Amino acid sequence: MWCPIRRLFLLLMVAVGIVACGSDADLTGRQAVSPSITSTTTTTTTTSVSVTTTSTTTTTTTTLAPELAQDGDARVIRTTTDVVLPVLAVLDDGWAVRTPCQRVELVTAGTPIERVHVVVDAGHGGTEPGAVADDITEASINLRVAGLVEEQLTDAGFVVLGTRYTDIRVPILTRVEVAEAVDAALVVSVHHQGLGQLPRSDTPGTEIYYQQNNEESRRFAGLIREEAVKELGAFEVEGGWFAGPDVGATTRPATTGEDFYGMVRRPTMPAVLAEMSFMGNPGELALLQTEPFLEAEARSITAAVVRWFTTDDPGSGFAESSFTISSSGGGGGLGNCTDPDLGPTAEFPPDFDVASVGSP
Ligand SMILES: [Zn+2]
Repeated sequence: MWCPIRRLFLLLMVAVGIVACGSDADLTGRQAVSPSITSTTTTTTTTSVSVTTTSTTTTTTTTLAPELAQDGDARVIRTTTDVVLPVLAVLDDGWAVRTPCQRVELVTAGTPIERVHVVVDAGHGGTEPGAVADDITEASINLRVAGLVEEQLTDAGFVVLGTRYTDIRVPILTRVEVAEAVDAALVVSVHHQGLGQLPRSDTPGTEIYYQQNNEESRRFAGLIREEAVKELGAFEVEGGWFAGPDVGATTRPATTGEDFYGMVRRPTMPAVLAEMSFMGNPGELALLQTEPFLEAEARSITAAVVRWFTTDDPGSGFAESSFTISSSGGGGGLGNCTDPDLGPTAEFPPDFDVASVGSP
């Protein structure tokens, strides 16, 4: 529910260099997280002028995303085989990258990626399928939903990057290093619960885990919760929704006091892990095999991202964590690591010091 007029007003205020509006908590908050995103006043001026000439009744769908300060630096490479890798150094004939198994390779073909607004992380993949129900893997559903989020956000003018585009195993370390490399302002990790026995509810049981000490992560989680209740709540579930004790926007601490999930704990930017629905509930699993439901799940995330960037909305549906404190979780590590096909690679030049770029 962004207000085009308010946004136009904000753009104009920024354009004229007046920062008098005391309610711009979202702008200042974002600057603290990612200074690059709100720093270009010249391009903002262009944007606001074009909005003005099209009158206030026109929707601003092409200008929802803040400007990104791009500098031509390749931060990440998407290989010809669709593997997303952090760039460690740029060479004459390719890019030194860190592979999922943490080796350093020289990749010679692929698409360089600069800064992005949002990283959408499809949980699990490859030899780590996540939950499995009726031979359907969580990894495949996560990938579908993440792909739809990327499509929808791209249509709204955001620059988005996924952490995987195929059914491969990508360690948490790589996913987070990618998000950090592209200066993402926001990270969302898409998951689906496999649990088979939970209380029934009239409303969706979507659980969104946010960073314990990050207000913007918490706000993002609350916005996803709001949108999920609206978008998914429009569907009939045979037998009712599953809803566990952690329904809503909540946290999951580990024994150390840190966040349990690596995709929540490790990123330096606001990040959440969203368990969108329950594969372990036959009624929800049936819906998860239909396109309209997957699109609705994606819209829940997309709308929350757009509202996070463009409003001060606080979100809702917050809940105390009910988890028994446990040590931080398995999965997503490097055990038995096999690197995926990276497409064309080459030997490093003899004078190139691989060790100098190798450490994370
Ligand atoms: Zn999962």
